[in-house]
Amino acid sequence: MTDCLFCKIVAGDIPAALVAETDHVIAFRDIAPKAPLHVLVVPRTHVANVTEAAAQIPEVLAEMVAVAQQVADAETGGEYRLIFNTGEGAGQSVFHVHGHVLGGKHLAWENA
Ligand code: AMP
Repeated sequence: MTDCLFCKIVAGDIPAALVAETDHVIAFRDIAPKAPLHVLVVPRTHVANVTEAAAQIPEVLAEMVAVAQQVADAETGGEYRLIFNTGEGAGQSVFHVHGHVLGGKHLAWENA
């Protein structure tokens, strides 16, 4: 996708603070962190949201979860919250699927 922010980060056209990468997934720090750990896990392939990812690239979605765990293992003792905002009304602003990996502080459920 030519006009997709995360495709540009995947391509290296826009810089990001990478923390992990595999053949299919990259993970980089969110530019506006909501917690001490706030990393985005993103497939290299463009799909719009987690529902499309589950249908079209399920193995890559599983790899995104594994990378989220790997990042949390390295930074927060393995504990994390993984969020996929899906749809504008749910807070999605970039329509290239990404999981928010949050942690490093007590995450109260009412703050979800
Ligand atoms: P969402 O609102 O769920 O679509 O999440 C998009 C996330 O991308 C937000 O948390 C933004 O802070 C983050 N973001 C936007 N631009 C960048 C960027 N250039 N580098 C890293 N994170 C970004």
